[in-house]
This record gives sequence, structure tokens and C-alpha cells, in this order.
Amino acid sequence: MIWNPNKECMPREQMRLLQGKRLHKIVEYVYHNVPFYRNKLQEMDISPEDIQTIDDIVKLPFTTKKDLRDNYPFGLQAAPQSEIIRIHASSGTTGNPTIVGYTRKDISIWSECMARSLTSYGVTSDDIFSVSYGYGLFTGGLGAHNGVEMIGASVVPASTGNTEKHARLIRDLGITGIACTPSYALYLAETMDRMGISKDEIKLRVGAFGAEPWTENMRTEIQDRLGLKGFNLYGLSEIMGPSVSYECDEQHGSHINEDHFFPEVIDPVTLEPVPAGQTGELVFTTLTKEGMPVIRYRTRDLCSLLPGECPCGRTNVRMSAIQGRTDDMLIIRGINVFPSQVESVVLTMKEFAPVYMLIVDRVNNLDTLVVQVELRPDVFNATLDTPAAIDELEKRFADKLRSVLSINAKVQIKAPGTIERSQGKSSHVIDKRKLY
Ligand code: ADP
Ligand code: ZN
Repeated sequence: MIWNPNKECMPREQMRLLQGKRLHKIVEYVYHNVPFYRNKLQEMDISPEDIQTIDDIVKLPFTTKKDLRDNYPFGLQAAPQSEIIRIHASSGTTGNPTIVGYTRKDISIWSECMARSLTSYGVTSDDIFSVSYGYGLFTGGLGAHNGVEMIGASVVPASTGNTEKHARLIRDLGITGIACTPSYALYLAETMDRMGISKDEIKLRVGAFGAEPWTENMRTEIQDRLGLKGFNLYGLSEIMGPSVSYECDEQHGSHINEDHFFPEVIDPVTLEPVPAGQTGELVFTTLTKEGMPVIRYRTRDLCSLLPGECPCGRTNVRMSAIQGRTDDMLIIRGINVFPSQVESVVLTMKEFAPVYMLIVDRVNNLDTLVVQVELRPDVFNATLDTPAAIDELEKRFADKLRSVLSINAKVQIKAPGTIERSQGKSSHVIDKRKLY
């Protein structure tokens, strides 16, 4: 089934015309409503009149995460506050989170995009559907929720945590669909095993998995253990949230909601478009967003756009699975974590040398984070001579980390000179999960 065949299966020429028209309108809109964009365009001597077709997009400047941070909190908002009905936030590289405001129309487009995804996965109004992304500032929970309501399935807003209760509900209510991170799906399977709930007792048949990278091996394992078919769901809060793109039954790349989000793939060094089908940095322009539109936003996600038609009948272009990042962002239990956030905490504590290491692993299908940090030699020799003093310091560090990262890390305080120094490019991460 296709939720909106008009938009999902539009002839290519017609789609390009629509995108060109919308691009012109959005450039005009930000020019008049966002000083940041007006200044940038004026510096480049570009007026909205210069942007008439979608091919003109290459004339426009890029927007980066740094621009969002520099304009914290509302600098890039285009709509007046009275029209913003929802505000989400996602982690920033240091300090400031990225704030995204949505108008009523933005929320309704987002719900429609989510409805397109769910319909593509085969979800209908007959399903009982559990949303197990986190509800809150993170876009996953509420984003998926609205889409499930739009198609008329019964939504169970389970959110994350309390997994045993959730597992019982899946069995007792006969829940048929679930949206969550792929690692949470594995954790759920594990929990069910432990509780003695077998896959024959549950009715799950569809999974909408995203918000973090995952592999085909994970897909096979989740499908085997939960007895469902798992589909990819991609999105980011700067563009909207989940449902920027979604897999169809072919499961060969994810269709982009191109009538709302125009994709480009560029070489992250030269910033030139890469030839069709090649891997580069994914860039999106929001074509219809009112709250916080972005022009040529550099996602830092590496992927390719897949050439050719999809047998499912949708004409919207497909993107490959995400193959990596151009920055050092980690996604740990679905939460964005930057090593620089850890560094910022290390630097506030006088006991520590600026030498630290993040060790990420996956144990029993749950991501784990260990943060090692070195003591300064003088502190090591003088003050910290009792285990109680070390414990206190570890606790203080762990508390600060939790408030900055929003996740728990296990802290290990090391003697001076014991964390391995890298030879070349400084590296602060050992990721043992091998997700790309
Ligand atoms: P969200 O709230 O949608 O997770 P964030 O802004 O917190 O948005 O994080 C977005 C990032 O999460 C993306 O840029 C990408 O790196 C990662 N991501 C989201 N969905 C997927 C997916 N299906 N596959 C791989 N990575 C994903
Ligand atoms: Zn398809």
C-alpha cells in the first residue's frame, strides 16, 4: 500500500518542477524572515529571484550544525513564536543543544511523512502499534506517535524503559507493530527470553527501526528473534525527525520524502556534488518547513543516492544505509554523544589531565560507555591517596558526565601516562560495536 501515491509516485519531471517551485518559495521566505540567511545571501550577491529551478540549488550556501549552535536558541526560526506549537531539542557537539520549532503545518507534514513510512511497512488501522522511541525532547517518540495516529492504528505510547512491562503488554495486547531503535529491539528480545516469553506467544509482525546505524546482521537477528519484518526509518531533528526517509518492501535503500526534503550528496572536502551513485555527505534542504527551514544542511551522514527505479512503484529517490559520519558523533543507546562533550567536562575538573578515552561496546545488546580519564601527576602523588577519595572523585565525574551526556557512563580514573596516546590523528574513541 502507498499512503500518498500522488506524491510518492510522481513522474520525475513533475517532481523536479514541484521542487523548483518550492525551493524558490522557501528561499524567498528565509530571505525575509531569517537575518542569518538574508545576510549570507546578500554576501554572495544572490537574491531569491536567482533561484527558479531545483538546479539553482547549487548557488545557495550550506548550513552547518555550527550555524545552528551559533544561532542558539531561536536565531534560525522563521515563523513568529505565536505560530510555533512544538519545540524539540537534540544534543549539540558542546553545550548548546539544537532547538527545532514546528508550526502546526510542520507537525501535520511530519505526521504525513510518518504515515507514508508506516504504510510502506504494511501497517494499517487494524494494527496495535507500540512506539518505543523515547518520548520527550528527542523527536523519535512523538514523531512516530503522530504518524501512527494519522493512519488510525492503535498507538501504545510505551516509550523506553520498563522493558519487562512492555514485553508483557506486547504479549497480552497482541501488539503487532513496534517503532524503536534496533538495539532496543534486540534488548527487548533478550528481555523476553529471560522472562520466558516465546516468539510464538507474540504477534509482532512489523518493526520500524532507526535513529541509529544498524547492519543487515542485526536485521536478521531481530527478525529471527521477534518474528517480525524490520524496516529502516531515517531522520534527524534538524530536518524534521523520523521519516525523512523510509524503506519499502524491496528493502533496497530508503525512499526520501523528496517533495519536502531535497537531498544532495557532496564531497565533504571540496563541497562539490559527487557523481550519481557515489558515497558522500548527505545534504538536505527543507522545501516546505515553516518553523525552522534549513537550506543545504550538512547532515554529516555518509551515504549514496541509489540510481534507478524501484519495483515498488515509488519514484522518490532512495538513499543507501548510512555508511558512517564525517564527524566523530557516536550514537549510544539512541543518544548522540560527541567526544568533545566529555572533554568539556574533563576540562572543568582540576584533578584531571586533558587525556581521556571513550570505550563504547555492546553487552547483551545494550550499548555501554566507559570513560577513562587520567589524573594530573601532582594530584596523583599528593591528594588522592585513599580509595574513598578516588571513589568520591569518580562519582563527581560520573554525575557531571550524566548531566551533560544524558546517559550513564562507567568512569575509570587512571594513573598519569597510562591511557594510550595515538601516534597520528588524536583519537578519543574505541568503538567495539562495528556498526558501519
Ligand atoms: P533523531 O531524533 O531522529 O534521532 P537526531 O538529530 O538526534 O535525530 O539524530 C539524527 C542522526 O541519527 C542522523 O543524522 C543519523 O546519524 C542517525 N540516524 C537516524 N536514523 C538513522 C538510521 N535509520 N540509520 C542510521 N543512522 C540514523
Ligand atoms: Zn521502493
